Amino acid sequence: MRVYQLEIVVTSDGLARPHFKCGLCGKIVTDAREANLVWNSEHTDKAVVVCKRGCDKLMRLTGSNQWIPLNVAMLYLLTNSKVDLKATNREAAILASVG
Ligand SMILES: [Zn+2]
Repeated sequence: MRVYQLEIVVTSDGLARPHFKCGLCGKIVTDAREANLVWNSEHTDKAVVVCKRGCDKLMRLTGSNQWIPLNVAMLYLLTNSKVDLKATNREAAILASVG
């Protein structure tokens, strides 16, 4: 499954930060609890992130779409990728300090 609408935002200090962007309205997702990951059961290789409260209703009304909350999807991604949160936090801090 591929997830689209992953946007790299470069902050004012020059650091690249990935953010999800709503596949319908284009708004940057700043709280994973406020978005869903939606996919069509007939095309499981493609998924889209959409805002709750509006954009997700459009996605749910079309065909055989399925969804899970984005925060839960992220937990699965981290778990399935065997991300060590403590080690990753250290690496992120090092990257932030070197700019
Ligand atoms: Zn949206």
